[in-house]
Amino acid sequence: MDELNQQVNNGTVSETGQESVSDASVLAPPVIPTPNEQNNSVEPASEPVAPEPSFSQSDILAPRQNLSDALSTLQDFSNTPQPQPQEQNVQPEEITADTKLTVEENPQAEQSAPSQLYSYENDPNDHSSVRFLKDLYDNGNECMTSPAGSFPVNEETRKLLALFANGRFFVVGESRYDGRVLGFEYLAKKRRLQIGDPEYVTAAELTGIYTYADQIHTATDAISTEEAQRQTRMQRDFVTVISRAAINHVSDIHIVVADHTTVMFRVNGLMQTEMEYNKEWGESFVRAAFASSDISDSNYAQNEYQAAQKLGRTPLRGSGGRLVLPKSVLGLRLQFNPIAFGTRYVVIRLLYADENSAMGDEALESLGFTQYDINQFRYLRSLPTGIVIVSGPTGSGKSTTLQRNMIAMLKERNYETNLITVEDPPEYPIPGARQMPVTNAGIEEAKDREFTKALAAALRSDPDSLMIGEIRTLSAADLAFRGALSGHNVWSTLHANTASAVLLRLKDIGVEDFKLQDPSIMRGMLAQRLFRKVCPHCRVATKTQLNHPAVQRLREAYGDVGLENTYLRGAGCEECDFRGVSGRSAVAEFILPDTTFLDLMLKGETQKAMNYWVTDLHGRTLKEGAVEHMFKGEFDIEEVERWCGLLNQPNLI
Ligand SMILES: [Zn+2]
Repeated sequence: MDELNQQVNNGTVSETGQESVSDASVLAPPVIPTPNEQNNSVEPASEPVAPEPSFSQSDILAPRQNLSDALSTLQDFSNTPQPQPQEQNVQPEEITADTKLTVEENPQAEQSAPSQLYSYENDPNDHSSVRFLKDLYDNGNECMTSPAGSFPVNEETRKLLALFANGRFFVVGESRYDGRVLGFEYLAKKRRLQIGDPEYVTAAELTGIYTYADQIHTATDAISTEEAQRQTRMQRDFVTVISRAAINHVSDIHIVVADHTTVMFRVNGLMQTEMEYNKEWGESFVRAAFASSDISDSNYAQNEYQAAQKLGRTPLRGSGGRLVLPKSVLGLRLQFNPIAFGTRYVVIRLLYADENSAMGDEALESLGFTQYDINQFRYLRSLPTGIVIVSGPTGSGKSTTLQRNMIAMLKERNYETNLITVEDPPEYPIPGARQMPVTNAGIEEAKDREFTKALAAALRSDPDSLMIGEIRTLSAADLAFRGALSGHNVWSTLHANTASAVLLRLKDIGVEDFKLQDPSIMRGMLAQRLFRKVCPHCRVATKTQLNHPAVQRLREAYGDVGLENTYLRGAGCEECDFRGVSGRSAVAEFILPDTTFLDLMLKGETQKAMNYWVTDLHGRTLKEGAVEHMFKGEFDIEEVERWCGLLNQPNLI
């Protein structure tokens, strides 16, 4: 469920990139920005948002030009958080994308705990020694009877006794039979407080104990207040950055903290530097991002790979209910990576609320699928049993496709079917489906285990159809096949480059051949890519560029017909933000296998199998799908070559 980060706007898919930092870009072709893109991404805007006075102009690269325009349309903070009971009256703070970011001089400054308050010797048995007092208050042991304690007593009683949370009970020796001491003991026992046998001290020693308690409280309060204020400031910055990203439909935010901090936005698959700050800001920002998350591996650890999530509907953790994400953001997935030389690399993926999710086939169409594709989906949905797998490299939009398809299926079946989904995590609501959560776990193996557990539970819950977010392990694959074998209709995604590679990948994972060679189980395998759509306002007709090498290849492949309604990417215009492309469109290849095809594949005769698929099964390759879009003028010819190989070369299958 990794590349779900898409939005559908007017039939375009704006999608992005990276699934996880580790394997991204291995499979996708490199996005090499043209000089034009490069200029655009770092060029200072002509109307920069007023910079915070506390840092110099050189600390910040002005936000992108269209940001300030977009700000006026930002009305995303109307969602009501679900406050915890004690936070019922707290209103979310108004944060907009132009809320100024803070830059701190030295956020790492640590205030040290009180140390040399006394000059007594360090004798742990001396009730007035620093050593004794430190030991006494060690591990957060609280003096309950101090004014700030959880069981405070009046000043007179404090001259007689002190009770600690761990049960240590100090009494001034000569007052051991004082009625107030006996009364206190009685009361403490009645309240079921832990109270040990009295340890006798002098009045001066008791005063020392209380004085130390005061000092600790003062220091802790100072630290916690300052910490809290700093955290709140950084959390506000965190929300501000997310808001800036959300109005631009940014799919991922990349933050690199090194000698200085660089924040990059990925929009439509292209990375652009959004702002630069000093190193300290970045470190605090990353900490605040971690602290704001709902689910985290554990404590923030600078040198570890850590993952976290933040749901959009709940206030940021630790913000007292005041800070919430923009309404259009359904959630965040955060990946914290250490990189060499003490730098930190954080990727935040934004998951957007999807307004089109209630639609059926229209929703698939809006991803860019053609009528041919839609018919294939319809056919596969009509099959009562078997497995269909949507594959694609990182960031190819396969999860969104799966989700849209399931919505279409529910609609077709009038919601009279039990669709259970197991996703980690369920990212988008599928109305009418039962979306089973996977218990969050820190390490990969534990995640896989929890995923398998949820999947097994789903199978026992009387499903008609099952949607499995992603098959990554043999145990998940086994359960998927068990579902299919026991008469269910199972849909899932798999990380594979091509439709045919699905089979090999499943075999690699460890699925037995007999399951893979049965076409009533292996119903459909499809692979998809997201192609960038050429901007219709500035595209350049190929017939005006006959000397362009790609145009020459186009002519070689399709003759002069190829010059009709085909285009090269233009220099960019205002409509496309000077990129020459705008939005994305899905292109897919489907394999609906039969026994012969599966046999050939499993015997390792891939090329034969592919030829059989194209000729005998009338399969349509990814390239053919892309070329259909190309002849509609939707993709520039170089975009097709980028994904499918040169136009004058034979089909890459
Ligand atoms: Zn344009």
